[in-house]
Amino acid sequence: MPRQIRDLSGEQFGRLTVISRAYYIDTEDYCKRKPKKTKYSRPIWLCVCECGKEVEKSSAQLEGNRCRSCGCLAEEHLADMSKQRELKTIHPGDKYNKLTVLHRLPNKDSHGMWMCRCECGNLKAVRSHSITSGAVKSCGCLRVEHFKKIQQNYNNLSKEEKARCRDDKRKRRQKEEERRAAEKQSELGHAI
Ligand SMILES: [Zn+2]
Ligand SMILES: [Zn+2]
Repeated sequence: MPRQIRDLSGEQFGRLTVISRAYYIDTEDYCKRKPKKTKYSRPIWLCVCECGKEVEKSSAQLEGNRCRSCGCLAEEHLADMSKQRELKTIHPGDKYNKLTVLHRLPNKDSHGMWMCRCECGNLKAVRSHSITSGAVKSCGCLRVEHFKKIQQNYNNLSKEEKARCRDDKRKRRQKEEERRAAEKQSELGHAI
């Protein structure tokens, strides 16, 4: 006589809602699905997470409070921790490339924001991650300078060198277009 199993259908465990028994122990269906695990005796439940993902969990996992989500909860927690770390590593007065951190701003889309002053005097609001990763190094003037330099270098070139530069550019563009066309082709191929 098998042990009485509590029906968990419809119950909620954290973000998980139990839909139904995923399969019955020792039934043909179950043996087919897990042929190597016929001795497996824990009931398995099909659950849907708040994020929309479906997962299979055992009674022990659910009732023991070991599973509160499909795994998205842990992922969010980790992302939160790294955000916290980023906030802690940045201090007002710190200098990152051309930016000096002034003060904290309200979060934007759950990203930590900082008001920074650029060496050129401009103010700029920058995300924590953009500061620490070096994705943003200035108010934007660095980029302008960079392009100015390129333009200057180009202006200093001889006529032949300029022609070669233009030629290279044209070739690069052509290659890029060919690559895109090939990509499109393969996408179409997949669709068929
Ligand atoms: Zn989830
Ligand atoms: Zn600047």
